[in-house]
Amino acid sequence: MSYICGSLRPVDTGDTYFTELLKENISGNRGAKEKLNREQIKKLEVYKGKALNARIEYARYLVDCPNCNSAEFAFEDNLFFCSLCKNSNIQGKVRKVKMPKDRKQIEDILSVRPIQNRHWTNETLQDLAKENELNLEVI
Ligand SMILES: [Zn+2]
Repeated sequence: MSYICGSLRPVDTGDTYFTELLKENISGNRGAKEKLNREQIKKLEVYKGKALNARIEYARYLVDCPNCNSAEFAFEDNLFFCSLCKNSNIQGKVRKVKMPKDRKQIEDILSVRPIQNRHWTNETLQDLAKENELNLEVI
């Protein structure tokens, strides 16, 4: 049984998700280890353009690739490198990522929801809390 995002914390990042996968004795371990090793990514030149915004989908912090429309987990180092296109449109430089300003509050509000309802893109805290009350019947 593979780890399900959101089961141990309100929202998982790439760091926490792949760490959980590594604890499991499964064939995906090698991939998880590679994903957790950010040393190569940290060595890359940082692109000067606007930072990409992280979003939450099914209790996962994700970042959409502006080049190929793939998505990657967001990591605590706030760097984005697309494993699919290798950021080919910016000569393989790494992009900066912006986590939500109200991260802790967003996670707190989402934490009472079932995992399949833990999403956030740019809603205000008030909107998120209202959604909890109106649609999810949690108080
Ligand atoms: Zn890409």
